[in-house]
Amino acid sequence: RKSAIRTRHEQAASEVLPDHRELFIGGEWVSSASGETFETTDPTTGETLAEVAAGNAEDIDRAVAAAWEAYDETYAGMSTAERQAMLESIADAVEEHSEEFARLESLDNGKPITEARIDMGLVVDHFRYFAGIARAHEGTTVETDDSRHVQTLREPYGVVGQIIPWNFPLLMAAWKLGPALAAGNAVVLKPAEETPMTILKLMELTEDVIPDGVVNVVTGFGTEAGAPLAEHPDIRKLAFTGSTEIGREVMESAADSITDLTLELGGKSPLVVFPDADLERAVETAITAIFFNTGECCCAGSRLFVHEDTKDEFLDELAARAEELTVDDPLLESTDLGPKVTAEQVERTMGYIQEAEQAGAAFVTGGSQPDDEALSDGCFVAPTLIDDIDHDNRAVQEEIFGPVQEVFTWSDYDEMIDLANDVDYGLAAGVITEDLTKAHRAVRDIEAGNIWVNTYNDFPAGQPFGGYKQSGMGRETAQEAVEHYTQTKTANISLR
Ligand code: NAD
Repeated sequence: RKSAIRTRHEQAASEVLPDHRELFIGGEWVSSASGETFETTDPTTGETLAEVAAGNAEDIDRAVAAAWEAYDETYAGMSTAERQAMLESIADAVEEHSEEFARLESLDNGKPITEARIDMGLVVDHFRYFAGIARAHEGTTVETDDSRHVQTLREPYGVVGQIIPWNFPLLMAAWKLGPALAAGNAVVLKPAEETPMTILKLMELTEDVIPDGVVNVVTGFGTEAGAPLAEHPDIRKLAFTGSTEIGREVMESAADSITDLTLELGGKSPLVVFPDADLERAVETAITAIFFNTGECCCAGSRLFVHEDTKDEFLDELAARAEELTVDDPLLESTDLGPKVTAEQVERTMGYIQEAEQAGAAFVTGGSQPDDEALSDGCFVAPTLIDDIDHDNRAVQEEIFGPVQEVFTWSDYDEMIDLANDVDYGLAAGVITEDLTKAHRAVRDIEAGNIWVNTYNDFPAGQPFGGYKQSGMGRETAQEAVEHYTQTKTANISLR
């Protein structure tokens, strides 16, 4: 099996890798100023997938200058209808090549191919949504009295910087590029160093669609390429998705030039199961909440609150379902969980697991790397359910970002809500109940930006996404996102 996996991956790589691994600046593929490259690896085999240009501050300077030139000379003059057509064409390019994109994402990130296909559907959906929004953008008039005419214009910033993570590489790019381009900005985008490939392929396939310099991509590491972008004085708005820790640094950088900022950060989301919940539905929702994308989801439902009346039966079912999940080569249709993105991420997840173990937590299932020789070169972690763990434990308070769910038993609603809210994060939550009143009550009581009722991890375009508390500020994936990419200009015209 191990050699079959290797052969399958080599074959797939030869079919779907983009031709270009350089930086994409001003519509040209260029080497990094330093001439340096870095490796992106396939987390299933541990083999190098590609060598990619390692951008630095000089490259960011070049990209920002190219973006301003494109904005001033081309993009600012493009009509909303032209922007709409461009975004539609980007969506078409992804749709036409969606299977190649899905396989490439699966190779670079390790996500199961079935889930990579879901990502690609969402990428297309978001580009199309923002294509529509580009035409529906309006200013206002303000009534005061007959002596003046007051109006507001919503103007683009000009050039914006975007920094994205590795867990949904192309989807995070779509969430960012869609509203920025719809609003009329030129962009400098820095993909995560772990997963640059689908973004390079997108640039390759849309070279004739996007005017030169309107989207510039600088691949590279966080400190070498990300920080100079965050600090750049000519970037007028910055959008960052990643960890809360780096988000805080980016916020400090933005403070220097008073750069407008939106942040989509980490989470430690609660999933609350009421005693009246349909058992099967509740179990399936809990499985999706934590094991979708191998737990590498900012909004993963990693803290599960089950009512004491149904806890035993629920947990038995949940453990049985978790044990049925197939951990294997992500390119196989039958795989439910692929590898984590890097060996470093495995180490991080296992560190939290060990910490829970040392604190005496009970492992309902998992808690280790899978015992499967065929997967021994990859970054795999078995689906893990932890019971009897103190809510103050670091593994509960911090984001593990892996396939690990902690289970808590509740009986008193108010105490449960207090515990559900007792983390620094507030990105998402789930509620499972057949009782409408309980559902609405919990939606109001839980401190989170996104709350799913009887579902989880559902992300249609048009539904705002973003966090409360230390999970971020601003909202993406909806009309509100376009507002974040524009600034208001007020004109007061005397009528006297
Ligand atoms: P990360 O913060 O380590 O890196 C994110 C990006 O920031 C990468 O492109 C990285 O190169 C760059 N970066 C690193 N150091 C930097 C610096 N000093 N200055 C500027 N840029 C820098 O996060 P990650 O490990 O790539 O992604 C996982 C995190 O992302 C998780 O915390 C997850 O919850 C979060 N996330 C949030 C959302 C959301 O919408 N809220 C979505 C996806 C992921």
